[in-house]
Amino acid sequence: MREMKYKDATFYVIPENSLFDKFLEFRKFGGYITSFGQVYVRAKYQRNAMLLAHEYGHVLQQRTEGRFIWSAKYYAYSLRYGYWSNPYEIDARKFAGDLREESIHNRSGYRIISTALTLIAGLLILM
Ligand SMILES: [Zn+2]
Repeated sequence: MREMKYKDATFYVIPENSLFDKFLEFRKFGGYITSFGQVYVRAKYQRNAMLLAHEYGHVLQQRTEGRFIWSAKYYAYSLRYGYWSNPYEIDARKFAGDLREESIHNRSGYRIISTALTLIAGLLILM
C-alpha cells in the first residue's frame, strides 16, 4: 500500500475499489486507525486536510493514552455513546476544526451495530 507522510506520522493510502475501500465508503469513513496505530486513508480523501487532521488527532490520542488502552476505551465509548458522540471522535473533530454537530446515530441498536462494523473494518485491512 502506498505511504504518505502527514506531520510526523505515516498514513497508508487504501487502493480504490478494494474491499476495505468499499467497506469504509459504506460506513461513510474517510480513514481508519487500527489498535496498533496504523492510519489508513481512502485515496479520494488523501488531500482532504480535515480528514487527515482528524486521523492525526487519533494518533495523538493513542500516543497520550497508549494504543491498547485507547482501543479498549474507544470501543467502550463507542458502545456507550455511539460514533458521533464518542469523546475521542468529538476530540478528533475539534482538533481538525470540524464543526459538525454530535446529534445523530445514537440509538442503542445502532450503537452496537456501528461498533461491530468498526471492528470488522479492522479485519478487512488484512484481506
Ligand atoms: Zn475519528
